[in-house]
Parts: sequence; C-alpha cells; structure tokens
Amino acid sequence: MPNVNKVVIVGGGTAGWMAAAAISKVLSHLAVELVESDEIGTVGVGEATIPTLLFFNKLLGINERDLIRETQATFKLGINFENWQALDKSYFHGFGSTGKDFWAAGFHNFWRRGLDLGISESFSDYCLEAKAALSGRFAQPPKGAKGGLNYAYHMDATRYGQFLRKLAEQQGVKRIEGKVERVTQHPDSGDITAVTLAGGQCVAGDLFIDCSGFRGLLIEQTLKTGYDDWSHWLPCDRAVAVQSSSVTAAAPYTRAIAHDAGWRWAIPLQHRMGNGLVYSAKHLSDDEAVARLLDQIEGDAVSEPRFIRFTTGKRKQQWHKNCVAIGLSAGFIEPLESTSIHLIQQNILKLIKLFPSDEISPLDVAEFNRHADFDYEQIRDFIVLHYHLTERDDSAFWRHCQAMDVPDSLSERLELFAQTGRFFVRNNELFVDSWFQVMIGQGLVPKKYHRVVDEMPERELNGLLQSIAQGLEKQVQAMPTHERYLQYLLDS
Ligand code: FAD
Repeated sequence: MPNVNKVVIVGGGTAGWMAAAAISKVLSHLAVELVESDEIGTVGVGEATIPTLLFFNKLLGINERDLIRETQATFKLGINFENWQALDKSYFHGFGSTGKDFWAAGFHNFWRRGLDLGISESFSDYCLEAKAALSGRFAQPPKGAKGGLNYAYHMDATRYGQFLRKLAEQQGVKRIEGKVERVTQHPDSGDITAVTLAGGQCVAGDLFIDCSGFRGLLIEQTLKTGYDDWSHWLPCDRAVAVQSSSVTAAAPYTRAIAHDAGWRWAIPLQHRMGNGLVYSAKHLSDDEAVARLLDQIEGDAVSEPRFIRFTTGKRKQQWHKNCVAIGLSAGFIEPLESTSIHLIQQNILKLIKLFPSDEISPLDVAEFNRHADFDYEQIRDFIVLHYHLTERDDSAFWRHCQAMDVPDSLSERLELFAQTGRFFVRNNELFVDSWFQVMIGQGLVPKKYHRVVDEMPERELNGLLQSIAQGLEKQVQAMPTHERYLQYLLDS
C-alpha cells in the first residue's frame, strides 16, 4: 500500500469544498485535487445549519462578517415545529439549554412538578434562544465577553460552496472540471488508483474522497460497499424545493410545518426565502406536492421547482479501502434537524484525526467507521422521535408513523423518560437538551419527576420558575431585532 501523499476529492458540492478547504488548511503537506462536473451540478439545497458549524468555520479562520455577507446568511436560533404533536400546536427546539439544573435533578423535573401545581409556563419559555427567536430578536455579546446565544446560520448553499472554493484554491487545492467516466482499481487490492474524465484526462491519487452526492460514484458504484436503508423508520423519500421572494423581516429560526404526508421548510435568507416540501411518495404525488408548496409559500417563486429523491440511511462502511465517503455519498438521514452539513464536518474531522501518517491502516479505518455509525445512528433516533411521538391520526402517513416499530435504542429511551423523567446522554452525543425539548414538545410529559424536587417548598419553586422566565424575558427585551442586528453587522 502506498503512503498517502495525494488526495483526490470527487465532487464539488458543499461536502467536496468543505473537505478541500479543511484538509488543505490542516494537512498542508498533502497535494489535494478536486474534480467536479458543471454538467452534473450540485444538489442545490442545504441552507440551514446547527451551531457546530461555528467550530468548523473557526478552524478554517473564516471571518463571520465575510461569511454572512458572501452567503446572504441570517442567524438561526432553532426550529419552530408547527402541527407536529397535533394540528394547530407548535413548540420550539432552541439551540440553548432550558432552565437551570439544581441539586441532583435536571430542570425538567422542577418544571414537571410545576405542571402539577399549575405554576409552570410552556417548556420553551425557559430557553433563552427560543424566547429570543420567537420575539424576532438577536444579539451577540461584546467581543471577549462570555455567554450569549447559541446560534447557527441560514445561508445560500451554492454561495457557501463558492466561498469555500475560493478559500481552498488559495490554500493550493487544484480544481479540475470534468465528468468522471471511469474509475481504475488496483488489480490485487481493489484500491482506487485513478479516475478518468470524459476527454481522457486521468487523475491519480493515493486516497480518494467520494463527495459525488447520492450516486456514491466511488464508495458504491465502484466499491459496492452496501447501504443500510432506514426508510421503514423515516418514511419521507422525496422533496421539492423552490426559492421565493421575502415578504417579511427574516426570522432568526427555521419553520418546520408538518402536513398530512410529511413537512415543509421555510428558511429565511437576507435576499430570499428557501422553501421545500418533504413528503412520502406513497402518500403524496409529485404534482400534489409542488402544487401544495407553491400554494403555501409566502412571496413569489423566484426559481423553478426542483425535485429530489432520496432513501434515508447510510453506507455500511463510510471508509472502505482507500476511499472515504463524505456528504450525501456517505448517507442521508433527512433534513428535519439540518444535520447533514454537521455530518459532513464530522467525517472531515474524523478523517483529519485518523489521517494516515504513511500508509492506510485497517485499524484507523475500523475506528472511523465505528464513530461514523454512531454519529449517524444517534441522529437517526432523534429524527425518528419527531415522527413517532405524535397524536396526529388525521392521515395514513401519521397513523403509520405512530404505529411503526422504532429502533430499540430509541424505544428504551422513550420508555425510561415516560415512566421516570430520566434521560442519559450516550457517549459523545450531538443533541442533549434538544431531546427534552422535542420529547416534551411532541407531548411526552413524564409520569414522575425526581423525588429531590419535593425538598423545595412550593413557594420557592414558584419563585424560581418565575425568576428564570422573567430574567430571560428581560434579556430578550434588551436585544435588538434580528434584522437590525444583521444590518449593524453588515454595515460595521
Ligand atoms: P452534491 O451537492 O450532490 O454534490 C455532488 C458533486 O459531485 C457535484 O459537484 C457533482 O458535480 C459532482 N459529481 C457527481 N458525479 C460526478 C462525476 N461523475 N464526475 C464529476 N463530478 C461528479 N443539509 C443541511 O445541513 N441543512 C439543510 O437544511 C439541508 N436541507 C436539505 C434538503 C434536502 C431536500 C436534501 C436532499 C438535502 C438537504 N441537506 C441539508 C443536505 C445537503 O444538501 C447536503 O448534505 C450538502 O449539500 C452536501 O451535498 P454533497 O456535496 O454531498 O452532494
């Protein structure tokens, strides 16, 4: 096996350019070439992110103001879930934590007792990010000061790719335009040795990163790695996306509005809205989906509707031989919690951490795949939760979601929480407080709370709950509107 000195990335979507920018920055001794096809293009969606992206951008030395300007970004404090638990009910999943932890018990135990006593507000009233978002406000603390809101961005996916391309090329990445038509493998090891483009150009390398999107040109079409299909747990398999003009001030949150066969997203950017309808083809036709989307968007459509088909799941091995899959080629859960870009980033960081010093070690490969499986499976469970825990029975789609079997790893957690109010974080899980927000938001209120809460006199508990909610309200009222803050940032 040769030493790894040259990396070839196939694909120039968000995944390809994120990988190119990060690897050329951190592993600057490598030669990095990226092949992309203008004719094929990119998937063209993926505009909502989660806070972990800030870490990735920091690693790349990206200036936030430049990013916001170049990608027409807005701030995102969470997601408003509408009609998920039941029609006309909504809840907010904010990026921060809810309440404060006291003694041995988490805040939700105090909140739960407050419910019995009739003194608790809705759970999200104790989350700063949720309150700020729903009031349309946003601010960052002064430079150097601690605290502040946990946030992410809504951004134009195509512009983000271009932004990263500029960065990667400045760091020495060579871009090659062309369509890969042939993949050559080593006759003994099966490792990929080169890709050949239409026109005959041959691009050889030691390690190949498959960022070719759903087709998985290297990891699947060539190496036949196999796919874990999760569509029995995640029934949506299509989306139609359209951009529209903005008619109201950009809200600092994504809207996820459930309908009778899936859900719709509304993502506000500075200059336009991103919209999409996610649905199950078994329960809604493409024609009905696009008609529904066009009918429900605010403003006028400014792009042609784009249909996307997908199968939720993941590659059985995301690193196989000398090929690492990153992005849609590695798997796709579905966009409900905007986790795909995060998973791209996770695979890039894992690859950097396990990057071969000389030749590829099977131990590194196994370690990478173990972590990748965990990263995907814990997010899968979190997303399945949104569909399964519902009171909706107004359509065949929701009746299926309610009745379906869910992974054991999820059902055990739900049962424990329902019976006892207990919930434990596993390994290095991405979502922590979010589980409480979504379980409670979807209507799962635990039967019991921790007994230690009864040690607190009722008057004290009332004062505590009130002081948290009022303190947050005061903080929110002191913030400028999201629009004003964005303008200030862009002007400064
Ligand atoms: P693509 O964008 O498909 O790029 C593939 C690249 O490979 C292209 O450059 C293409 O030209 C190239 N290529 C393919 N075949 C060849 C060939 N033969 N030769 C040369 N080049 C080739 N993620 C989020 O984080 N937040 C969201 O809100 C979100 N929303 C989504 C909504 C939907 C409906 C879908 C489907 C996805 C969403 N995602 C979201 C996921 C996100 O879009 C992707 O993770 C992200 O865009 C990365 O895509 P990619 O780069 O892997 O693939």
